[in-house]
Amino acid sequence: RALVTMARISKVFSSGTVALSDMSLTVESGEFISLLGPSGCGKSTALRIIAGLGDVSSGEIDWPSSRINSRGLPEGDISFVFQEPTLLPWKNVFGNVHLPLKLRGVSKTAARSQIMDGLATVGLQDFSDAYPRELSGGMKMRVSIARALVTKPKLLLMDEPFAALDEITRQKLNDDVLKLWKTTGITVVFVTHSVFESAYLSNRIVVMKARPGRVHADFPLATSLERD
Ligand code: ADP
Ligand code: ADP
Repeated sequence: RALVTMARISKVFSSGTVALSDMSLTVESGEFISLLGPSGCGKSTALRIIAGLGDVSSGEIDWPSSRINSRGLPEGDISFVFQEPTLLPWKNVFGNVHLPLKLRGVSKTAARSQIMDGLATVGLQDFSDAYPRELSGGMKMRVSIARALVTKPKLLLMDEPFAALDEITRQKLNDDVLKLWKTTGITVVFVTHSVFESAYLSNRIVVMKARPGRVHADFPLATSLERD
């Protein structure tokens, strides 16, 4: 079952930069895709388009398994984790993880168990009262993963999420994401420029090339990952 289909997408910025040209990609339910390629090849642009965050210049993008809102965008099935954790400094961990539910009109009281479940998934159940300034970079990233999971998305998009962290922390977080994938039905698209990370994490590697950005190679890794 396809979650997202991109057909011959091109994206030209107003500056004239052709970020993507004729890019096609289908994301199937249950996959763990690494989107791999050099800096500037359009990985972030492609991910934003998959999330419904960016206009396309030509081509078709569809979310065949999602409820589509009046603006033609998928409603609630997709969460995004950016490289910067972007937590609100004046809210504690609980309040930050509550945000996506708050935007949907769910009160803190009603959201409590969902928020605590999300924090438990990333091992931060004891830090719900802490403020972002009290947390390490890795912990802040865990909070932003919990925040992304609290709406129970089908598709989790991660844009070089751990690139700013030290290698040991990054490896721990990679293991957390793998465990999340193995123990839930979630589908992941993970942008990286690390060949190691892509081989370690995914069951399909989509390699992009630059100028213009598009899919250059697409490898299923049939034997690498199995769900528990
Ligand atoms: P990657 O994530 O692979 O590093 P990006 O998708 O960020 O690549 O960028 C692809 C190309 O589009 C690059 O040449 C980049 O400079 C350009 N680009 C990205 N965002 C914008 C923007 N908002 N305006 C103009 N050019 C952009
Ligand atoms: P990432 O690390 O996610 O690939 P970048 O560091 O390339 O992102 O870009 C950060 C922000 O700047 C993004 O919002 C991107 O769209 C924008 N951007 C990137 N390249 C350009 C560019 N050449 N002109 C204008 N905006 C850009």
